[in-house]
Amino acid sequence: MKEFGHFISGQHVAGTSGRFGDVFNPAIGEVQGKVALASRAEMRSAVEAALKAFPGWAATNPQRRARVMFNFKALVEKNMDELAHMLSSEHGKVIADSKGDIQRGLEVIEFACGIPHLMKGEYTEGAGPGIDIYSMRQPLGVVAGITPFNFPAMIPMWMFGVAIACGNTFICKPSEKDPSVPLRLAELMMEAGAPAGVLNVVNGDKEAVDAILTDPDIQAVTFVGSTAIAEYVYSTGTAHGKRVQAMGGAKNHAIIMPDADLDQVTNELIGAGYGSAGERCMAISVAVPVTDKLADALVEKLKPRVESLKVSTPTDPDAAYGPLVTREHRQKVLDYIDLGVKEGADLVVDGRSFKMQGYENGFYLGGSLFDRVTPEMRTYKEEIFGPVLQIARAQEFEDAIALPSTHQYGNGVAIFTRDGDAAREFAAKVKVGMVGVNIPIPVPLAYHTFGGWKRSAFGDVNQHGPEGVRFFTRIKTVTQRWPKGGVREHPDFVIPTMK
Ligand code: NAD
Repeated sequence: MKEFGHFISGQHVAGTSGRFGDVFNPAIGEVQGKVALASRAEMRSAVEAALKAFPGWAATNPQRRARVMFNFKALVEKNMDELAHMLSSEHGKVIADSKGDIQRGLEVIEFACGIPHLMKGEYTEGAGPGIDIYSMRQPLGVVAGITPFNFPAMIPMWMFGVAIACGNTFICKPSEKDPSVPLRLAELMMEAGAPAGVLNVVNGDKEAVDAILTDPDIQAVTFVGSTAIAEYVYSTGTAHGKRVQAMGGAKNHAIIMPDADLDQVTNELIGAGYGSAGERCMAISVAVPVTDKLADALVEKLKPRVESLKVSTPTDPDAAYGPLVTREHRQKVLDYIDLGVKEGADLVVDGRSFKMQGYENGFYLGGSLFDRVTPEMRTYKEEIFGPVLQIARAQEFEDAIALPSTHQYGNGVAIFTRDGDAAREFAAKVKVGMVGVNIPIPVPLAYHTFGGWKRSAFGDVNQHGPEGVRFFTRIKTVTQRWPKGGVREHPDFVIPTMK
């Protein structure tokens, strides 16, 4: 049985709290390891390691910090297969998808390699007589990231890539469900040349999170996970004087206009709805065909495709998706399907009874498809986070804009159409943070920024891209005058102006 401790000050350390969580292999449904759940004191030792490393790292010039990122990128690429297998064995996503998870994180590391340029300040010469003004971006100090189970490579890299390149030192508190990859990434960062204490990984649960949120030496907290916890992290962290960004859950709609290419849309919905067993915050979970005629045609196309989805082990190269992450999560998704039936939605494809031959204890679930889902239903209002696609029919373009705009979540949305005018109006009006036009999963690339609206994100600054640099730095503005001989005769009692 594997045991996962923490990575503090450049070294693996065993947990000392005496509390452990189970790490499953979801493909076979068995416990494969124990993860240490940190106490406050263990978290504090990581904070101290990060505090100690901060002055030296902040003073390291940005080009040298960027070189560590270049080295890290090369090391992750070299170890891609090992990392992908490690990730799949704990999460359950198929190997190719794990590679995608790692690659999307690496793209943020590539962005962070440009940090000397990204941290440049501004300068105004001659803002007044003999006066120049310049601004500089400085790192915050010790910062922490709390990550969800569903992207154990990408999301830690979103966070620590930018934070560390900016000169901060970092504590990552990964999901206790899949701790291996973040620990391995921390080893690789050291190998890449990051000094001890620059990246620490502390495993744990609520106790570790609360220790982060209340520690006076942690300047900022970045969080990704479910909405209830995001809201808690945001309110507790800000109440303790920290800068906080907290990304939460989602319900992503795909609007299908009557002029869209239905074969193309069917492919996109199958991939974006069921890939990674629907355990993606940007998965399409609601399809909104505009007009009943289109809805009938869409159901006809989707039904056989959902019925024939190949659910298999993460290492099966032909699998569409693998098992869900835990038995509890699988049960939660099953409960939502039961509820959908009770609420009166039309269960067109029922994946509940799927059994994976030879892996009967694994956390597998077949694909399910609901039609005639309506906004009053709980299964529409809440996030299911499983291989379940819901169809909510709309009659008009305006209804199709209203559905995602009035939903409590506002992470991603997509529209499928050939009509540029409709797409443009949709993108401008819809109240959602990330919009795809004929793109089912509009996750912006690393040099743009990621973040939802409404209850999908708390705080004002998004992840990665220039916003990420803003989040992990604070700006200082210097107004300077160099005296040109002589002392000014009188003090100024009036606020200086440029009149
Ligand atoms: P989760 O909220 O259960 O866990 C996220 C983190 O919070 C973990 O590190 C966990 O240990 C910690 N945590 C859990 N319970 C806590 C508590 N009571 N107090 C303090 N900390 C606690 O989320 P998850 O199940 O790991 O991830 C799936 C969720 O994340 C989904 O809702 C999904 O939509 C969301 N997600 C959002 C984005 C986004 O960018 N918006 C991206 C990925 C995932």
